Amino acid sequence: MTRNSDWLVATHNAGKIKEIAARLARHGISVTSAADAGLPEPDETGDSFAANAALKAEAAANASGRPALADDSGLSVAALDGAPGIHSARWAGPEKDFLSAMKRVHEEILQAGGPADAAFVCVLALAEPGKPTRFWEGRVEGRIVWPPRGEAGFGYDPVFVPDGYDRTFAEMTLEEKQALSHRGRALDAMIREVFGG
Ligand code: IMP
Repeated sequence: MTRNSDWLVATHNAGKIKEIAARLARHGISVTSAADAGLPEPDETGDSFAANAALKAEAAANASGRPALADDSGLSVAALDGAPGIHSARWAGPEKDFLSAMKRVHEEILQAGGPADAAFVCVLALAEPGKPTRFWEGRVEGRIVWPPRGEAGFGYDPVFVPDGYDRTFAEMTLEEKQALSHRGRALDAMIREVFGG
């Protein structure tokens, strides 16, 4: 896997692919998405980020015979007992309406009486044929703001402000978000282990 310069990334999410590809490019690795490889998206039936990441990585590795990296991630809101969590994509519905999903988060925080504390969580799973699947986790703490601000990024980025900042992830460049984000941190941990630095 480490000597292979084209990695299979088990996701159909263009925002995730962009961030993973940018980070791996620094190590001379290109990526092919599961969508481009013609692989189906498995149902996310797991009850944790790690279970769903393993499910996606192992399905892609089994179908392709190649090592596959998957990301399962989401937004965890303290006042909502960690929701939407592993259901973050599902809150946007089949039409991927993230404005509605962000509005629902904001309204449910108000109904719960706050606070707006939230975290993004990302678990990466690397499945290699014949080897045990490996995992890395990244997390970033912050808060939900309203109304949404910024055009960059994807998903809930326009309403998430990381601790120590006053801009949302959608108001940051990809490099700024990557240096702070759950996905950037999980990727850094994976790269340290796989490449040794
Ligand atoms: P899944 O891992 O494919 O189940 O989807 C994760 C969902 O969590 C995404 O569709 C987004 O809604 C949300 N999410 C995960 N990471 C981010 C991020 O970096 N920014 C904004 N939303 C995210």
